[in-house]
Amino acid sequence: MALELDSITVRYGQTAAVSDVSLSVADGEVVALLGPSGCGKSTLLRTVAGLEKPASGAVRWDCADLAGVPVHRREFGLVFQDGQLFPHRTVAGNVAFGLRMQKVEREARDKRVLSLLELVGLEGYADRRVTQLSGGEQQRVALARALAPSPRLLLLDEPLSALDRALREQLAVDLARLLREAATTALVVTHDHDEAFTLADRVAIMSRGRIVQVGPPAEVWSSP
Ligand code: ADP
Ligand code: ADP
Repeated sequence: MALELDSITVRYGQTAAVSDVSLSVADGEVVALLGPSGCGKSTLLRTVAGLEKPASGAVRWDCADLAGVPVHRREFGLVFQDGQLFPHRTVAGNVAFGLRMQKVEREARDKRVLSLLELVGLEGYADRRVTQLSGGEQQRVALARALAPSPRLLLLDEPLSALDRALREQLAVDLARLLREAATTALVVTHDHDEAFTLADRVAIMSRGRIVQVGPPAEVWSSP
């Protein structure tokens, strides 16, 4: 298994936001965490990212325990809801950031930036300031930036939530195709059934801090 969550419990004070959750994600598999607001989806994702420390349990990546490995050393692609873009950079500057870190040379970098902007429907936006974009546009820049360095694991928290319905459906289909083509492993938090079922190989239904059901979309969908 590429990613293993082993009996994870995360507390805020006395309250457990995540209770004894175990989940294995295979290499190249896309798993959606689906459930109502407050059920612990984001907390679980943030724990995998290294932004929350579990009270007990372990996160393993390629069999290695990630306890003590800081966020920036986990080399995962992250799209979280709260202000994540570099405000002083252009759209292209944001998307190119990870490629620069990887020392991808200029020409290849520009090409990749442009193809990602096209993918998220922002062709022509390369030189714009991100502070001048709408919430939905910023979310698409964040998605392109996370995808740019081709991370092996993508952690996406409601990546399409700020988009209007038509764009969300379109981008969900495009993103699903892209993840499959690149064989990217991904955990996607969403409260939207359609989005989960479009994107994911398996859906994990969460309720009150626990995973109550997990399986391929068709199975989860058809069971009571
Ligand atoms: P979801 O992503 O499913 O909406 P969250 O993981 O954000 O759920 O929240 C799970 C529970 O943990 C909720 O009851 C929420 O109020 C609580 N919670 C989340 N973040 C914090 C925090 N930083 N401090 C205290 N409680 C929190
Ligand atoms: P910033 O200063 O905001 O980071 P730069 O103009 O320095 O923005 O661009 C950062 C990176 O973004 C460049 O290294 C380049 O790879 C890419 N880039 C910038 N402008 C474009 C563009 N018009 N088309 C494609 N890629 C671009």
